[in-house]
Amino acid sequence: MEFYSTRSEKHTAGAARAVLTGLAPDGGLYTPLDFGSMRVDMDRVLTLDAPELFAEIVYKILPDFGEEEIKRLVPEAYAGKFQTRDITPLVKVGDRFVLELFRGPTSAFKDVALSVLPRLVSLARKQLGISEETAILTATSGDTGKAALEGFRDVPGTRIIVFYPEGGVSDIQKAQMATQKGGNVRVCAVKGNFDDAQTGVKLIYADDEAEHWAKREGLRLSSANSINIGRLAPQAAYYFKAYRDMVRMGEIKNGETVNFAVPTGNFGNILAGEFARRMGLPVGKLICASNANNVLTEFIQTGVYDRRRPFFRTASPSMDILVSSNLERYLLLAGGSFELVDELMRELRDKGIYRAPERITEEMQKHFDAGWADDLTVKQTIAEVWREHKYLLDPHTAVAWKVTGDIKAQTGDNTKTVVLSTASPYKFGFDVLDAISAQRPATGFEAMVVLSDLTGVPIPANLAELKELQPRFTDCVDKTQMLAYVKEVLKG
Ligand SMILES: *Cc1c(COP(=O)(O)O)cnc(C)c1O
Repeated sequence: MEFYSTRSEKHTAGAARAVLTGLAPDGGLYTPLDFGSMRVDMDRVLTLDAPELFAEIVYKILPDFGEEEIKRLVPEAYAGKFQTRDITPLVKVGDRFVLELFRGPTSAFKDVALSVLPRLVSLARKQLGISEETAILTATSGDTGKAALEGFRDVPGTRIIVFYPEGGVSDIQKAQMATQKGGNVRVCAVKGNFDDAQTGVKLIYADDEAEHWAKREGLRLSSANSINIGRLAPQAAYYFKAYRDMVRMGEIKNGETVNFAVPTGNFGNILAGEFARRMGLPVGKLICASNANNVLTEFIQTGVYDRRRPFFRTASPSMDILVSSNLERYLLLAGGSFELVDELMRELRDKGIYRAPERITEEMQKHFDAGWADDLTVKQTIAEVWREHKYLLDPHTAVAWKVTGDIKAQTGDNTKTVVLSTASPYKFGFDVLDAISAQRPATGFEAMVVLSDLTGVPIPANLAELKELQPRFTDCVDKTQMLAYVKEVLKG
């Protein structure tokens, strides 16, 4: 099956090349268009266990890797790394369902995709007969970096360098990255914010001189950010998994529609839900939940995307994004032409604003609802859900919980709703503790212990052990020095 660049039908790639390069040569994102060939037999889905189900969906989206390979590789990627064989447990909380996507090795939902991606990269290298090492460069606002490090750790033929904004990640996130194990990993702080780190990485990719240098060194540069189609495929799987669970729990009949509420930043997670819908999952609404950086709320409600607005640092930092990369894939799927997407992305870059055509806005509003919540409301939501249901939400998940309630109240839509939970509350223990008890200990580590004593909810092992581990990485560079750093680390 061919993947098309969102910006031109001239640039297509098979699964292996799409996964290995990440971005198309014209800057577009590789996207499947033939969802007819990806239809899923729902009766069959209901009979599969979680690893089989994930394998089935990944195979549907990336068939040219080969059925045997995918159906071996996907279950192997999760075995022993996630807390349960169930991979992503579904928990009933009040009248809603929380899909726990954070039971992996780094306690964030990025693990679901980044456990599989390195194996897809290895397979792609083998299938394309590539002997150069693959060097992954990743900019992170906290969660992607750690999950990518853990996923690529000691994967043969790969090296990984993660850049994070100095002072821009929590103490827990910093400790998670600085203590990363593995012989092929490096972590470096950048003096600047996340956009500086991300721009720095993009500039390296776009730099011809850097590409030639890499070639001479026997390297190829690649990306683990959510623009990689290899990350969307495993994410589509957990929508089916949640649905399967609801049927098994007797909450719905097969064929009944379900809503999904998604804490959204780069639009990757929720786009995977749109993939699932197009593959035959009975999805009612996809609820796009944002924090104070509510550019997507406005876009879904009005069709105008305007990034010319103040940027807020919030208690849900993984959603502090004003340019949601994956949205351009949706513009194409919702009926945009390649030329139109190219034009809109140009307007976004040059003017900071674009208006989608009426028919795209209408199509979008048929399938998406949107809302946002500020930090104070999020805190109240965490406290309320703990008080009423004895369930601990992290701040990202709490945004989606709150928005779900608001939309239910506005529309009277009583469709059963799954709230996607994207992080362990302990990853943001400081804010969660503050929400339920107004205690503010000196560090995130102390907050974890107090929170656990108070609630009886166990601390995930990977976070509990952090304090005992020695930091391995303390590098910090100026944003203009990132390429020099990459060369220094990768040479020879
Ligand atoms: C990455 C992330 C998100 C946002 O997901 P997108 O796919 O970028 O929309 C939400 N919550 C957490 C905890 C995350 O790490």
